[in-house]
Amino acid sequence: MSGRIAVIGGGISGVAAAYELALQGREFVLYEASARLGGIVETVHHEGFVVECGPDSWVKEKPWARELAIELGLEDDIIASNDTARLTYLVRGNTLAAMPEGMRMMVPAKWEPLLSSPLFSWQAKLAYLREPKRAEELKAAALADGADESIADFVRRHFGDEVTDTLAAPLLAGIFGGDIAKLSARAVMAGFVKMEREQGSLISAVQSRASAPQASVFTTLKGGLQRLIDGMAAKLPAMSVRLGEAVSGIERRGAGWQVTGLSGEESFDAIIIATPPHITKKLLKPVDARMASLVEMDATSAVVVALAFTPENAQKLRIPRGFGFLEPVSGKPNGDGEPALLACTFVHQKFSHRAPAGGVLLRGFYGGEAAGAMAGLSDDQIAATAHRRLSRLLGPLPTPDFSLVRHWPLSLPQYGVGHLERMAELASLERAQQGLRLVGNAYHGVGLPELVRQGRDSARSLTR
Ligand SMILES: Cc1cc2nc3c(=O)[nH]c(=O)nc-3n(C[C@H](O)[C@H](O)[C@H](O)COP(=O)(O)OP(=O)(O)OC[C@H]3O[C@@H](n4cnc5c(N)ncnc54)[C@H](O)[C@@H]3O)c2cc1C
Repeated sequence: MSGRIAVIGGGISGVAAAYELALQGREFVLYEASARLGGIVETVHHEGFVVECGPDSWVKEKPWARELAIELGLEDDIIASNDTARLTYLVRGNTLAAMPEGMRMMVPAKWEPLLSSPLFSWQAKLAYLREPKRAEELKAAALADGADESIADFVRRHFGDEVTDTLAAPLLAGIFGGDIAKLSARAVMAGFVKMEREQGSLISAVQSRASAPQASVFTTLKGGLQRLIDGMAAKLPAMSVRLGEAVSGIERRGAGWQVTGLSGEESFDAIIIATPPHITKKLLKPVDARMASLVEMDATSAVVVALAFTPENAQKLRIPRGFGFLEPVSGKPNGDGEPALLACTFVHQKFSHRAPAGGVLLRGFYGGEAAGAMAGLSDDQIAATAHRRLSRLLGPLPTPDFSLVRHWPLSLPQYGVGHLERMAELASLERAQQGLRLVGNAYHGVGLPELVRQGRDSARSLTR
């Protein structure tokens, strides 16, 4: 296809699409509603700290973010998480209990740490011990082709209520900010669903693959993930980037598209929509109401709050070894009336280069109802709320040298039960619309590597 292309939305998926178009020498316009590119990807540098306001890393198993970083000349900036310190805690009441070593999500790769862990009751340990012996029964109960169920139902079948409620729920909430009773097992846990189908027992499947020591899981850039965005943006012709220009409508005109932005209407031969699903739904409605309804999905909000302590201030701080903690949201008050932090990363221990030596950087994350309730609070109030909760869990904390708060409303789309079927239908309707591509975290994964791949592939598919 020849001609001009509009990219609507300048998060990582839209920027990746625009970057690929620029590499191919194509004429395009990138519309971004806000004053900056990157969307949820944003890094702030302050007093020697590198603070990620959104994502902090990518998972190593998917190559596309790493490949992009190398292509952008950032190879020396790529760094793995400090896995000698890999240990995650779960909040129980107001204390931190270490997750047993060797867990792959809620599945133990090793027996001894699990069985000696105080985190689970003997009933939960018994459920774990029985799971491999139930392989045939579990294989028979595995999802049929095309069928789906909630993550809660899937995990419960293998390990019972306690593991589902106290481990799987906070683990998934820490990633999706969502409710495992609604999230799709097939869309979110495809690997485990496949293991169940092939072997029945998840434990046997994980343990048969786990003989090699697990390499570090998370990869990032020393200088912050914003460098990926900046690296791509540097290749975009300035005239092609329209910051502060929200698109309010799209329309078919003959074989092409009409895009309405702040500066008026413009014609394009193709469009790539890279906006969050609630915006994409509005844009698509006049074009194809069925596509719009397929894009409609629940999304939860996130509030990220970082507290930074310089080396002098952090001298008396004793942060437990490890990457951080997850806090289950049970609906019950947590004892001090403070909202639960879904997750908190001990950033200076996970990625030690992100704080000056001896400094401490804590990064918490509110989701769900707590994030919604914080929409009306000032940044200082939110930082003070997080400070109180963290002081309760980690021991008294001094006043931070600085804090930073970011609101990401409706930023975490929830892949509900039946998601893959809906996406298959959406993809076939998309193919029927000449010169239309949908990219972003609503469709086939929320992680950065996947979004880089999608953005670039969408551009390539339009330039063939
Ligand atoms: C707190 C948090 C932590 C996360 N941590 C990780 C992590 O560690 N690793 C990981 O891989 N993933 C992580 N994720 C997920 C990942 O960050 C996101 O899925 C990803 O950044 C989304 O990119 P996107 O391009 O789909 O959308 P967005 O980043 O949401 O970008 C969409 C863009 O569209 C623009 N826009 C909206 N409306 C319009 C309009 N009408 N016209 C023009 N532009 C418009 C917006 O301003 C925005 O810039 C995290 C997400 C959150 C919220």
